[in-house]
This record gives sequence, structure tokens and C-alpha cells, in this order.
Amino acid sequence: MTDGAHPARAEIVVDLDAVAHNVATLREVVAPAALMAVVKADGYGHGMVEVARVARANGADWLGVATPEEAVALRASGDEGRLLCWLAAPGDPYDAVLAADVDVAAYTPSQLNEIAAAAARAGVTARVHLKIDTGLSRGGATPEQWPDLCAHARDLERAGSVRAVAVWSHLVASDEPDHPANTDQSKVFDWAVDVAEQAGLQLEARHLANSAAAVLRPDLRHDMVRCGIAVYGLDPAPGVTPDIGLVPAMTVRGRLAMVKEVPAGAGVSYGHAWVAPAPTTLGLVPVGYAEGIPRAASPGAEVWVDGARRPVRGKVCMDQLVVDLDGDTPAPGSDFVLFGPGREGEPTAQEWAEAVGTINYEIVTRIGGRMPRRYV
Ligand code: PLP
Repeated sequence: MTDGAHPARAEIVVDLDAVAHNVATLREVVAPAALMAVVKADGYGHGMVEVARVARANGADWLGVATPEEAVALRASGDEGRLLCWLAAPGDPYDAVLAADVDVAAYTPSQLNEIAAAAARAGVTARVHLKIDTGLSRGGATPEQWPDLCAHARDLERAGSVRAVAVWSHLVASDEPDHPANTDQSKVFDWAVDVAEQAGLQLEARHLANSAAAVLRPDLRHDMVRCGIAVYGLDPAPGVTPDIGLVPAMTVRGRLAMVKEVPAGAGVSYGHAWVAPAPTTLGLVPVGYAEGIPRAASPGAEVWVDGARRPVRGKVCMDQLVVDLDGDTPAPGSDFVLFGPGREGEPTAQEWAEAVGTINYEIVTRIGGRMPRRYV
């Protein structure tokens, strides 16, 4: 329900008790390592501010976001604990981020200079997490560049505007715990920490692991883990992660807009990619790719209607999709569930991901569009 009187046409329901439970569970699993709850990308589609508040209350020592805008918005919401922002581009608003007492990441000496200049202007000492690229070839200094980055950080520390508090990196294949890249990256990471310490940096934290590694590779936890997907109750490494009792927090639900019979031979949706082989009852689900429903949902994905899973038929449209009710005739206005925790038999975000050939992260993060979010 959106306003208590009219059930929503379609909505995202976020179970904050599930988030609380997942954070508390991760807290226990990873102890004594500290836990950073990653709330970037609007809390993976669940709502950054709401998830952040619950994560703090349930044991998250740190929060992590990608962009400076996310960090500033989180502070504007009243958040006060340790917060790392790791993806700034040249010219981004470091002044605002540092004034908001946010830790920042640095990949290059010129980025360190930019941070130091902003810190000097703001009259603060910037807390910086130096990133080593241990093999992902994304952000971070290469091993060849690393000694210079550490030395430069140490010089800036002497000048007083910067303090290098952490060394960090990100894994290539954490969802495959036995992948050789994990061991290779771990070796480079250990070396990078040694180099930083020998350069005279007094590190507060070393962090490498995301959700999958936090659960599957205790040896890679170091001082802190950065957990995103597990906070939202989704499996970071489907088929591999042991059951630690995570609870999916997002349900996408609503009401069928229409139910109708079509004869054998009726083509369904654009291009008639599916043709009814026999007289068929169809249900109209009023969400489409504008709400982040993948266009590749058919064939393969299912929607829960009237106590059963119903296949998506034909192409997903911008505002709507069609399901095959297999002869049942639920009233228009009956509930549908696109995906949820799976308790009643409804599909999960993981099943949607498998049906459309993607990962559960992409399913929940893209969901939105015109659907309101409701917290329970
Ligand atoms: N650390 C970094 C740098 C990330 O980019 C992400 C997410 O993409 C995470 C941690 C969290 O990863 P996960 O959601 O797999 O726990």
C-alpha cells in the first residue's frame, strides 16, 4: 500500500529488519575484522539513507560509497560515523567531502595533490586510503607506481594536510574462492602494505575483501571487509556461499492491471515473439523496462500471481509485461510479486538474474523507475 488506502500499482518493498539481520550476521561472521557496509548506488537500489541508518545501528563500523555526491548526501542525512568515498574524478568536489569529515581514496600522486590542496583550503587533515591495483586493472596504483605513491603520501603527511590511514584493493574473482587470482592479489597486497609501512605510513586499516571474500576467504579479511550485496541479503557467490542465514531485503510487488483470454495463435507483445499455442489467459503486469525490468526477461523469468509462478510471455515493454496465467483467472487487481525473499514460493532476485543472464546485483540496483519504495 502506498498511502494506507490504495494498494500500490507496483512498488518496491524494503524489509529493514532483513537489512538489520544481515548486518548483524556479517558483523559476527567477520569479527574481529571491522565491517564496512557498502551503500553506494542508492543502497544497491534499496535506499542509501535508510540502509545506512539501519547498518550503523546494527554494527557497521564504516559505510562505503563510490561518489563524492553520495558521501555528501549521506552526511546531509545526519550520518556521522566513519565513511569512505572511493571514486572521485579530477575536479570533483573534495572540499565538500573533506569538510564533511569523509575519508577519501587516492590512486595517483596528482590525486593526492588535489586532496591535499582541498584539505589545506578547508583547514583539515584529509584521511586517505591509498589504493593498490593488485590485478583488477581498474582504479589504483600499479605495483610499479606504488612506492612513489607511498613516498608522495609521506611527503604530504609531513606538510600536514594528508594522513594516509589505509591501504586497500579490490578482488577480481572473489566469487570463486579457489581462483588463483585471489592468491596472486593477496601476495601483491601484502607486499603493498609492507612498502607503505616501510615508507613510514602509520596504517589504521588494510582492506581487500568484498562480501564473497568476507564469507569465503577468512584469510583475506585483514582489518576490515567491505560488504555490499550480502547486506541486502543476496548471495555473493551463488552455489558456493555457505548458508549463513542472509535474508533478501527487497520485494517488488503490485497489482495486475488486466486479465484477458486470447485464442490459440494470438501473438503477444511487440514482434509477436511468443504466440499462444492454445487459448490462454494472460495477466498484465504494470511494470516494464522503465522500472528496470530487463527486456531479456522472456523467455525464462517468472512472476508470482495467485499462488503460482507464471512465465513472462513476449517482449517486456516500457511500462508493462505480460504473464501466462495458464488457464487461471485471478481478478484484475490481484497481487503479483516479481521477486522477493522466496519464502512463499515467489521467484528471487537471484532467479531473475539467472533467467536473464546477469547477476543479482544488477537486478536490484536497476529496479526503480516510477515505482515508489516502501519500508517495512
Ligand atoms: N568494494 C568496492 C571497491 C566495490 O566496488 C564494491 C561493490 O561493487 C564492494 C566493495 C562491495 O562488493 P560486494 O557487493 O560484492 O560485497
